[in-house]
Amino acid sequence: MPTETRTTCPYCGVGCGVIATVAEDGAVSVKGDLDHPANFGRLCSKGSALAETLGLEGRALHPQIGDRSTDWDEALDLVAARFSETIATHGPDAVAFYVSGQLLTEDYYVANKLMKGFIGSANIDTNSRLCMSSSVAGHRRAFGADTVPGTYEDLELADLVILTGSNLAWCHPVIYQRIVAAKERRPEMKVVVIDPRRTATCDIADLHLALRPDGDLALFNGLLAHLADVGAVHCEYVANHTSGFPQALEAARGLSPDGVANATGLRRPEIAAFYDLFAATQKVVTCYSQGVNQSSIGTDKVNAILNCHLATGRIGRPGMGPFSLTGQPNAMGGREVGGLANMLAAHMALESAEDRDRVQRFWGSATVASKPGLKAVDMFDAVADGRIKALWIMSTNPVVSMPDADRVRAAIEACPFVVVSDIQADTDTARLADVLLPATGWGEKSGTVTNSERRISRQRPFIATPGAARPDWWQLAQIGRRMGFDGFDFTAPAEIFAEHAALSAFENDGTRDFDIGAHATIDAATYDALGPFQWPQREGTPQTESRFFANGGFYHADGKARLVPVSAPVPARTSSDYPLILNTGRIRDQWHTMTRTGKSARLSAHMAEPFVEIHPDDAAKLEIRDADLVALESPWGRAVLRALVTNRQQRGSLFAPMHWTGEFSNAGRIDALVAPVTDPHSGQPASKHVAVRASRHPAD
Ligand code: SF4
Repeated sequence: MPTETRTTCPYCGVGCGVIATVAEDGAVSVKGDLDHPANFGRLCSKGSALAETLGLEGRALHPQIGDRSTDWDEALDLVAARFSETIATHGPDAVAFYVSGQLLTEDYYVANKLMKGFIGSANIDTNSRLCMSSSVAGHRRAFGADTVPGTYEDLELADLVILTGSNLAWCHPVIYQRIVAAKERRPEMKVVVIDPRRTATCDIADLHLALRPDGDLALFNGLLAHLADVGAVHCEYVANHTSGFPQALEAARGLSPDGVANATGLRRPEIAAFYDLFAATQKVVTCYSQGVNQSSIGTDKVNAILNCHLATGRIGRPGMGPFSLTGQPNAMGGREVGGLANMLAAHMALESAEDRDRVQRFWGSATVASKPGLKAVDMFDAVADGRIKALWIMSTNPVVSMPDADRVRAAIEACPFVVVSDIQADTDTARLADVLLPATGWGEKSGTVTNSERRISRQRPFIATPGAARPDWWQLAQIGRRMGFDGFDFTAPAEIFAEHAALSAFENDGTRDFDIGAHATIDAATYDALGPFQWPQREGTPQTESRFFANGGFYHADGKARLVPVSAPVPARTSSDYPLILNTGRIRDQWHTMTRTGKSARLSAHMAEPFVEIHPDDAAKLEIRDADLVALESPWGRAVLRALVTNRQQRGSLFAPMHWTGEFSNAGRIDALVAPVTDPHSGQPASKHVAVRASRHPAD
């Protein structure tokens, strides 16, 4: 008999429910789970091709030391010994974990516990740093906690949906499908897309504002000033539940309407159309993603958006609120366990002595990291200059995906001891490992993930684990034990989830937002059957409300939100040597560095090779024709890509996808060109704003 397993898609932050069917002959097929509240049966192209990506080509099947296959005992003993020796000789900050939003929450929890609670360093950071850390920093500044106030349903209930810095149609396709369906049901719903590019998402736009790169801060500051001018501020909400409005408004008024037009490159009538629509519509949701976050002023841009929702009280009520769309399947779960170098666990603050003491007592550890660790870009700087001497990279491919990727590769090559755990042995990063640990993949592993609307869902196994692969949480727990630490006797993910839930409720008198204490004593059978649910789920308090902040209740000590004055000018990046702005991003049918989606011929057929989009006028100036090879150069690196001449692109700017490695073509890695420039608050790289020059490739 065929068997059916309910699980969750491992790609984007929408977190769609999937039903995987294994036929009697072992063939796997997938379909959307009609009962899952994220997708109600829908899947996008990537999700529906999941069964095509389960092949074993390139899989890591046995632990390896250098080129030699070995058994787990030898590999784990070596890792534990080298980490212990490094810590004994150079201190705990000489080691680091670079982890991933692909990890399940249980994996993440054990990694964070080991590094922050027992090794005693906060040098654990994640590739989620590259996609949503500006939102985290913005949430914490405004709300006092990293809380997404709304739900996906709000996007269907809104009368105005604003999509800024988000190509939703390609990057969060099922959310896009839900908005399309809602718009068909309610034609009065309006959609505004704010994006320098004319993307596929613009197909549903009533208004497309093709602003300059990084023009969003000026646009939303101008909106705040407009809302005040036309009397659209919710004075009661502002007075009772916020502070900082006068200062934020003063900063917003720093630009005149003409100044906003200059800073955004938009015409005043189109700006006015947007502002009037926002002012006149109660039910407004503003969704934002990498176009906002991946900027050197990303956190300020997030707060400029939050300011407008706080000023109008449009937050936490049906159809209203700001909505950060997370990129990865478990970026949110990583935030919950403190997977970022500047967070502790269960949304507690590393900088708070009280929180550190609470976590230390809960874990029963001798030490807890007392200062923030190195964020992703800084971490690889520390690898490059020798401060980090032992590095464990889990489930991610930084040689391709980090900014200044050539330097990152050189740093990993030079690092005295590098451990990589991954499902693939053939990634650019895995090839550099001193020790390669084979991890279990989607369909084999068991645990939970949290999507963009705070919904926790189970990933369940339905196929046999190949070779000697083992889950990441097991590998980490083994290393914890072999390094001599207590508290790593986990035998199953249900035990880890229960501990995580118990920590979230430990001495929580309602002053912390993340609380799933209702699951603190969950047993294996209940965990196996656990259906999707949104946090919080506090013990003894049935969840009656899935939204936050309609009536205040923010997590700053006074219970009020902060409107943050933001007025940073857009940094100039171009020069006569590097006159074009490169925007890097995703395409519809590939995920990250293609280590899984690259296995599907169907997905690879969508865009067969790496490309760079260029406006016809820029192409003409540079004597580049459609399909020519183009060399792109920045001060950090070089890549060669196929030209796609299109007026979807603005003059003076380019777009190139971030998925390809040098292996698949002569493209090189686009992140080799990306400057290691980061937002000062979040540490998130400015991957959408890279100064480059372009020329026709001489070989063409
Ligand atoms: Fe998977 Fe995201 Fe597509 Fe849903 S929208 S099927 S989570 S990739």
